[in-house]
Amino acid sequence: MASALSPHIVIVGAGPAGSSAAILLAQRGARVTLLERARFPRDKTCGDGCTPRALWMLERLGLGALPDEVGAPVDSVRAVSPGGLTWNAVIPERLFGGRASVVPREVLDERLVRRAVQVGATLREGVRVVGLERARDALRVHCQTGEPLDADVVLGCDGSPSVVRGALGAPAFPEHEGAFAVRAYYEDVRLTHPRSMGFFWEEALLPAYGWIFPLPGGRANVGLGMRADQLAASGARLPELLERFCASPHVARELTGARRVGRVKGHHLPYGSSAHQTTFDRALLLGDAAGFVNPLTGEGIEFALESGAFAAETLVEAFATGDLSARGLHGYARRWRARFRTAFRLNRRLMWAFERPRMLDRVFRVANQETWAGDELIDVLSGEATRLSWRFLAAVTFRG
Ligand SMILES: Cc1cc2nc3c(=O)[nH]c(=O)nc-3n(C[C@H](O)[C@H](O)[C@H](O)COP(=O)(O)OP(=O)(O)OC[C@H]3O[C@@H](n4cnc5c(N)ncnc54)[C@H](O)[C@@H]3O)c2cc1C
Repeated sequence: MASALSPHIVIVGAGPAGSSAAILLAQRGARVTLLERARFPRDKTCGDGCTPRALWMLERLGLGALPDEVGAPVDSVRAVSPGGLTWNAVIPERLFGGRASVVPREVLDERLVRRAVQVGATLREGVRVVGLERARDALRVHCQTGEPLDADVVLGCDGSPSVVRGALGAPAFPEHEGAFAVRAYYEDVRLTHPRSMGFFWEEALLPAYGWIFPLPGGRANVGLGMRADQLAASGARLPELLERFCASPHVARELTGARRVGRVKGHHLPYGSSAHQTTFDRALLLGDAAGFVNPLTGEGIEFALESGAFAAETLVEAFATGDLSARGLHGYARRWRARFRTAFRLNRRLMWAFERPRMLDRVFRVANQETWAGDELIDVLSGEATRLSWRFLAAVTFRG
């Protein structure tokens, strides 16, 4: 049990990163306060897609298997190339049981935060953090209203842009290290592949790519994203690109008879880089605040959840040694680099290929022709690949 003498960990932001860290730290007896500017249930602009690894993490955090009315079960991936080639692939069993899911964030994030409270974290909703100050043997957290809080350690889990990141003196993400994405909800949707996550690369919209993800109750999440620097250079507006995406033949077919509900919402995504500074004296950055997003697909939920686990393991070690300096907390950077770095690097390189229509056609043609190539591609799209074989590269170059 936590006592008044236990170190006090203040977590700023109760998204997947913050709640994951809160659950794992509170379970180990730490005194945890979660500060969240919103009140639950709250929406978060997202594609709502949970990869197999994200589902595995949710089970590890004690959420159990999600019922079908909470998350639409997904067991395959469907991709349409610029030339109209379609590639369907079953998610293999070896990827955490071969299951993925699409869970509205309004539901997912509330379940996670309630779990954190259940295992002993204190949640303070409607509290906006505005700054940090270094005090003797503590970090003082300033909120928009009320008294400041003293923390032994602060975890910056406040997404992007992150107040904590700025207050710690970490540089803002450069434009080429991020994207913007928009999404809209549809209802009365009759998808041709209701258990597939659909990815679409429309030639006229490249380098943007779009998705249609099934949701429970005949709904779908439809969206589109593009690298921030390319978007700025093109002068395009994402909501307009989304209209064009929805009107394109492959997508319009999927949305026949469907109705859009609510407004189109967009947000920034900071791309994963191994160079980001995430470890400071008495503080760590997690999830989007650290820039942990798959540069190729824009998926960040699994990285946010896992960074929570890495932070919790690191803090348990650091409290045992009493060293809360950036050096003492370095185990955090070691852990996330060992897990994320090679995947981020590979996906950054692949972005080049995924922006070229003829190259993409070749990739999906080879994936259709050869089961082993399809297996490699599904690892890439689910964020699990750390390398592509020479065999794959040769097949795309010479046979695709
Ligand atoms: C359009 C779009 C589609 C996406 N699709 C997918 C997808 O399908 N699958 C996927 O895996 N990822 C997707 N992502 C990425 C994913 O949404 C993020 O990577 C993920 O939400 C990161 O989790 P987080 O906990 O780090 O941050 P967030 O989920 O952003 O949570 C941050 C929390 O901090 C709170 N907060 C912020 N500032 C303060 C403050 N000053 N004080 C107190 N609280 C604060 C916020 O209210 C929020 O609750 C998408 C992103 C976008 C924009």
